[in-house]
Parts: sequence; C-alpha cells; structure tokens
Amino acid sequence: MGQISKRKRVMEKDSLFQYGLSTLTIMAKEIVLIGRSNVGKSTLFRELTGKRVKVGRRPGITKWPFKSQVGGVFYVDMPGYGFMKYASLEEQDRTKDIIIKYFEEHASDILLAIQVIDASSFLDIANRWEDRGEIPLEIELYEFLGDLGIEVALAANKMDRIANEDEALDAIVERLGMLPPWRQWLDRVAPISAKRGQIEPLHLIIKAHLAKK
Ligand code: GDP
Repeated sequence: MGQISKRKRVMEKDSLFQYGLSTLTIMAKEIVLIGRSNVGKSTLFRELTGKRVKVGRRPGITKWPFKSQVGGVFYVDMPGYGFMKYASLEEQDRTKDIIIKYFEEHASDILLAIQVIDASSFLDIANRWEDRGEIPLEIELYEFLGDLGIEVALAANKMDRIANEDEALDAIVERLGMLPPWRQWLDRVAPISAKRGQIEPLHLIIKAHLAKK
C-alpha cells in the first residue's frame, strides 16, 4: 500500500516534470553558436549571455552542450570544430558528427544558427582546404544548415584586425555563395569584434528573428 502511493507520487512528479519540460520546449527556442576553434566563439557567447563557457580539461574542448537562457531563448554553444592543437583527426570527425546530428535532431527548435568565423583568416584557411582538393569545413557547414532550412547569421568576428572591411566581406560572402556587395546581406551578415564588445550588427539580426518568433 505504502509502496503504491509512493510510486503514484513519483509518477505524478514525473509527469509534472515532463509537462514542465514540454512547456519550456514550446516557449524557448534556441540560438545555436558554431565555429571552428579560436574564432572567438566563447568570447561572443559571453557577450551575448553574460555567461562564461565551461571548458573541459584540455584547451579547445568545450563541455557540450552548454546552454544559457536569456529571456525567452536558449543560447547553445557547440564544440569548436576544425583544427585543434590537442585533438586527433578522429576527435575532429566526432565533433563534426555531433554538430550535424544536433542540427538534424533539433532543426525545428532552432530559431537561428550563428556561424562565427574569424574574418581575418577565413579566406586563407578556405584556400588551403581547396588547394588540398577538399571543401572547406566552414563552407560545407554553412551550406548544410541552409539545406536543413535553418536560418543562419554569419558573425564575421575579429573585424578589428581588418583594414578594408568592404573588400574582405565581399570576398567572404562570395565564397559562401552570396553575391557581393555584402551590404545587401545585412539581414544575415554581421561584422563584429567580440573582444571589443562591438556586436551591434549581430544584435540587430537576433532582434529581427526574435520578433518573427
Ligand atoms: P573560441 O575557441 O572560438 O571559443 O575562441 P575564444 O573566444 O577563446 O577566442 C580565441 C582568441 O581570439 C582569444 O585570444 C580571444 O581573445 C581572441 N578574440 C576573440 N574575439 C576577438 C576579436 O573580436 N578580435 C580579436 N583581435 N581577437 C579576438
């Protein structure tokens, strides 16, 4: 008897928990940050949420998924991909698989993906991959997100390192399949400097997506 009522209480608690979770899922959409290691993704995450991303024991390995609620949305930090000083090739592939699976499984919950790039090294890295006969990972992921129907904002970070902003951004957007001039893509391309706290163009894009929610 005592066992049964205890079990009933547990079940009630469980269903309340489930109810709470599903309500939260309906309410809170996600804004997901992706980017290769060292592009300034953690710096940007901190600017957007006020939260410091927890990192694992080894540099470059962010504990995943790191979520932080701000107002009615969750900001989600994905592990950094691409070159990592301390990661093996298998580890890099695993990271890419985690990212791809996450987007495939959560596509309908995602309000916006923010793809962070280091605008000062993006083209050099893309050229290096292409010289090896490979599709640059950042370009592949950008196209993959578009194919899934996910809205993507390109956060072109480290603009403080760039002398000719228009020239650099025109070349970057063209590489991602958008016709220059880049200024016609202000709804999805945001030149920022996360380290300096200059992220207004990205805030405008996020605001526009929140308003559509
Ligand atoms: P993550 O690996 O992508 O999470 O990158 P971090 O946020 O850890 O930043 C990597 C390095 O880039 C750090 O030394 C940051 O201080 C630096 N960084 C981040 N944002 C900027 C920026 O806007 N401009 C410059 N010049 N450096 C930045």
